[in-house]
Amino acid sequence: MKIICIGRNYADHAKELNNPVPVNPVFFMKPDSSLLINNKPFFYPSFSKEIHYETEIVLKIARLGKCIQPQFANRYYEEIGIGIDFTARDLQNICKKEGHPWEIAKAFDQSAVLGKFVPKTSLPDLSAINFQLELNDITVQKGNTRDLLFSFDELITYVSTFVTLKTGDLIYTGTPAGVGPVKIGDHLVASVEGKVLLDFHVK
Ligand code: ZN
Repeated sequence: MKIICIGRNYADHAKELNNPVPVNPVFFMKPDSSLLINNKPFFYPSFSKEIHYETEIVLKIARLGKCIQPQFANRYYEEIGIGIDFTARDLQNICKKEGHPWEIAKAFDQSAVLGKFVPKTSLPDLSAINFQLELNDITVQKGNTRDLLFSFDELITYVSTFVTLKTGDLIYTGTPAGVGPVKIGDHLVASVEGKVLLDFHVK
C-alpha cells in the first residue's frame, strides 16, 4: 500500500506557512514504513529539532482505480479516519530552500500516524466534517472539510490521473491552520465529530 498526502489544501494553513494557495492539488507520498498505528507511541527522532503535527482527515481507498472520473470518485472510499502527518519542519525548510524533494522531512519512520476509521455513511455530511486535535488537553487544531480547497472527490480524480489507486491505499487530505511543534511527553488526541479515533503519546 501507499500513502498519498495532500499539501496546502486549506487556505488558512497555506497562509500560515507563507505558501501560495495552489491552482491544482499538491501531493507527495510516504512509504508504508512511515505508518504508526494502534495508538502506539511516537518516538521523537534524533535528526530533527522541530517536528510539527498536522491533523488530517484520511480516506481509505476501497477499490482499484485509474483516471477516475469525478462523478464516480465517491465509490472509491467507504471509510473516513484521522491521522497526523508528522513533518520535520526544520528539514522541510532546508529542502524547500534548496529545491530538494521532501522525503527526509515527510517520509521518515512513524511520520504517518493513523487512527481508527468510521464508515462514511456514519457521518452526516462528508462536505462538512468537524475534526480536531487536542495537545495535552488543549484544542490546537479545529478543522471542517467545508474549508477544503479540493474536495475528496476532486483529490481522487486528480491523484488517479498520475497514480493508480489500490485497495488499502491512504489519502491524507491536508491540514487546517494551527500546526505546531511536539515535544517528548506530549499527549495527542484526535477526534472526528466529537468521537476520539486517535490517542497517543510522544516519547
Ligand atoms: Zn500534511
